[in-house]
Amino acid sequence: MIEKRDFYINGEWVAPATANDFEVINPSNEEACAIISLGDQADTDAAVAAAKAALPGWMATPVEERIALVEKLAEVYQTRTEDLAQAMSAEMGAPIDMARTQQVGAGAWHLMNFIKAARKFEFEKPLGDHAPNDRIIHEAVGVAALITPWNWPMNQITLKVGAAAVAGCTMVLKPSEQSPLNAMIFAEMMDEAGFPAGVFNLVNGDGLGVGSQLSAHPDVDMVSFTGSTRAGTAISKSAADTLKKVHLELGGKGANVVFDDADDKAIKRGVLHMMNNTGQSCNAPSRMLVQRGVYDQAVETAGQVAQMVSVGNAQEEGRHIGPVVNELQWNKIQDLIQKGIDEGAKLVAGGTGRPDGLNKGYYIKPTVFADANNQMTIAREEIFGPVLTMIPFDTEEEAVEIANDTPYGLTNYVQTQDPQRLNRMARTLRSGMVEMNGTSRGAGSPFGGMKQSGNGREGGVWGLEDFLEVKAVSGWAAE
Ligand code: NAD
Repeated sequence: MIEKRDFYINGEWVAPATANDFEVINPSNEEACAIISLGDQADTDAAVAAAKAALPGWMATPVEERIALVEKLAEVYQTRTEDLAQAMSAEMGAPIDMARTQQVGAGAWHLMNFIKAARKFEFEKPLGDHAPNDRIIHEAVGVAALITPWNWPMNQITLKVGAAAVAGCTMVLKPSEQSPLNAMIFAEMMDEAGFPAGVFNLVNGDGLGVGSQLSAHPDVDMVSFTGSTRAGTAISKSAADTLKKVHLELGGKGANVVFDDADDKAIKRGVLHMMNNTGQSCNAPSRMLVQRGVYDQAVETAGQVAQMVSVGNAQEEGRHIGPVVNELQWNKIQDLIQKGIDEGAKLVAGGTGRPDGLNKGYYIKPTVFADANNQMTIAREEIFGPVLTMIPFDTEEEAVEIANDTPYGLTNYVQTQDPQRLNRMARTLRSGMVEMNGTSRGAGSPFGGMKQSGNGREGGVWGLEDFLEVKAVSGWAAE
């Protein structure tokens, strides 16, 4: 059993102020795989004080030196990839091969993109030729609290830490208590890379404890949060008294609009995308809207594809999907599948209960519902499991209306061979991202949502800007 109770504060691993053990459960077998400690106010205060004390020195460190440390971090990252993959596989159930490639790969990718973005970024620049003595300075927001979820843990941590570090912010990371082990390995990497003491701190804890202590803390200048819309609302409220900057990356209920001229891989691609990471992705294409002429065939194909998705232990190699993260999520997903049945959607694959032969572990049957409408619970709520909801439509206008009829606005997807329709759809869909015909977004493309999916953008230049204040100076002396 791994025992990792200490927190990383001011460049050292320190014992919690008060012992508060917490078992990390491996969702593949429902057994504890580690013991950590949940912090309290004294730990939060110590970490924030360390970050506050380190801030002036870090802000004054030339940006080239800050970038060089992130480059060193990216190098160290490459030496710990297997440790990270094993940790994520055990604590949140990512199948080991997928953890090695997608989960670990995402972190390396974001660090590289921040290095590129920061090298080109003009931290200081003139306002314009019309005002030669005006200067625009981008400087760090200050002490940033980084609160991250369990579903793409290294993805989220690097998106926040990479940007905050090059921007000149000091930080306190509170990873999800469901997946703290990869975050502690990351803290070891920050240490090995040689970041000055206090620039990066880590305190484990739950949302009501360290999470809300950080959001309410008077010495925290900014909260960057990724997680549920519920927690995003709570954080915004507790941050309001100190008027700190709040950056939110929340849930989604993406539409995947499949027109009758879509390519012949569109349905399979959409189902597999939905099932990836056991459906635990905020940008999952969870509502598949299919044009009537190809709808029946699409339903048949989707059912067949889902039935071929195998489910198994996350520690085993192979292309299966793993369990969902914990019992709470398992129960929530079971309830939502039952609601889908009760509200009259047609079950095409999967259903309630565990897949055959898997009696222990939080495993879910890859599930497809057809003949749903957009008012059903399975079309409105983020299920966060391997459950696809299919809805027919007749016209492009109707598809847009259904796609946009959701409180969320993170990613929508479009499948059609008509170039004009593609671009029309891209302009009309209300979401932070629109992905066409299976083309993934390029390096440094901003990730984030509209409406109740949040207000920030992560990755590349936009991710960096979220950790920067804009300072306007007049009467700047020529240098
Ligand atoms: P969660 O909101 O319960 O927890 C996320 C983090 O917030 C954890 O570290 C948790 O301890 C903390 N937290 C919880 N309540 C808090 C509170 N009141 N104050 C401060 N911190 C609090 O979410 P989760 O179950 O860990 O993750 C799943 C959710 O995250 C899904 O809804 C998913 O869509 C969303 N998500 C969004 C993105 C994105 O970029 N938009 C990415 C990944 C996950």
